[in-house]
Amino acid sequence: MKKVLLVIIDALATRVVEPAMNSNALPVFKELKKRGEYSSQCISIFPSITPAATCSLVTGAYPIDHGIAGAYWYDHTKDEIAYFGADLSAIFKEGFDHYIRDFQIRLNAERLQYPTVFERIERHGRLIDSVVNFMWYKGTVSHPATAPFLMKMIPGTDLAEEMQGPHQMYLGDFVSTPLDDGAPVARGGITRRFGFHDDATADYLLAMARSGPLPDFTLAYFPNNDFVSHDVGPVDALETLQQVDATLGEVIEEQGGMDRFLEEYVVLMTGDHSQSDLDEDARVDLNEVLRDFQVVDAGADWQNGEDLMICPNMRSAQIYMRPDRWEGRAEVIDALLTCPGVDQVIWSDFENGLTDSDEATFHVYTGDRGTLTFRQAWNGNTDGIDELGNRWAWQGNLETLDATVDDQLQLRYGNYPNAFERIANCISEQTGNIWVTATLGKEFCLPGIHTNSGGSHGSLHALDSTSPLFAAGLPDNLKLPQPSRIVDVTPLALQILEIQPICDSYKR
Ligand SMILES: [Zn+2]
Repeated sequence: MKKVLLVIIDALATRVVEPAMNSNALPVFKELKKRGEYSSQCISIFPSITPAATCSLVTGAYPIDHGIAGAYWYDHTKDEIAYFGADLSAIFKEGFDHYIRDFQIRLNAERLQYPTVFERIERHGRLIDSVVNFMWYKGTVSHPATAPFLMKMIPGTDLAEEMQGPHQMYLGDFVSTPLDDGAPVARGGITRRFGFHDDATADYLLAMARSGPLPDFTLAYFPNNDFVSHDVGPVDALETLQQVDATLGEVIEEQGGMDRFLEEYVVLMTGDHSQSDLDEDARVDLNEVLRDFQVVDAGADWQNGEDLMICPNMRSAQIYMRPDRWEGRAEVIDALLTCPGVDQVIWSDFENGLTDSDEATFHVYTGDRGTLTFRQAWNGNTDGIDELGNRWAWQGNLETLDATVDDQLQLRYGNYPNAFERIANCISEQTGNIWVTATLGKEFCLPGIHTNSGGSHGSLHALDSTSPLFAAGLPDNLKLPQPSRIVDVTPLALQILEIQPICDSYKR
């Protein structure tokens, strides 16, 4: 059995990585590509937003099953906002202590509704697993947590003393499992987001590589590329990737070089989503678009009498309607479609109490390309079969999703890869009644909520949702699905570790 090193680079974009490998700007990535299987199209979920997409990477499930609906949503079962973004003004509105507790404890312990790759490995018993700086770490081993000094200073910040995770856990300034020569210390502090930073990931990973063989399964997460891509655009963020490339080179050298390393390990490497470029004037203010309706203040809970709650997730947004206002949704949809920054308005029929995607019907409306209604064709008439073998039935205009169908019923996607499956496995009771996506170059905002300047993501568009997937050192009997999806990564890792995945390929 080979061991697995899974490297997740936030916002890793195929359109940036491939030219950079060709010009030798990413020599280690290039070598890893040569040494195994490679897919240039590893498709994210919808919404292509970090907390939801990284959760899909580590569970192999879609949001409808893992319960994480973006970075910002309304949890109707608890009647509260869930916020996991990095926008300081929203965090202060929510309360810093609430945010930290949400991130540190509730995210893994309460909100996550699906087993992680760590839990499945640990259930198996014989293997050792490890996490480096990833927000999803739910496991079975208890670790003492320390609070950084600065956080202890913030009144009301009540941090956990113990966290449950894999056998070895390295989480920023909070958790560091001792190695042979003591607990490694990584660069952190307030200037490096308390250690949720590439420098800390590099420090921990190198300390592990120097102390001996890596565990059977190691997941290392590099967040910086997303932050820098948001600021300057993904193309100009290349230096961040070069730093990751250099770190991986060092780790592999510490372990005896590329040949030796790939005899023992498979390196899986991908991103959770990618980023498209923003226009200079990118902001689409949904409050303005929906000014004729009573909208709940950003980040606040329902008060009295409002029609709508809006949760922007960068280039997508969830709009919640009070159940007793749902009849009036056509007016809301019409208002959204008059806005030139809105690409698609997407919703599902919940009036009959349908919440299971097996029976749900999905609607995609656009301002310029007509409307489409589709559902999964479990039985009865099939209008098309996608590249994954899913059968679909629809009425209306496939142009809404830039899709085509041929005489053999083969369904092909253009700008919105795997759109039917991604929509059908996103919309649930957890998410808004209505989803909106932004046209290229645009990002949804609300008053007081920060928007990005260089790049962004969140929509179904290929530019928001296409990462490369590397599988260097993959045993000959395993192949990458083409195209690949981020939900294929956990099943693949389990196969390499010779653990029977729940199902070979996640498919509804
Ligand atoms: Zn991002």
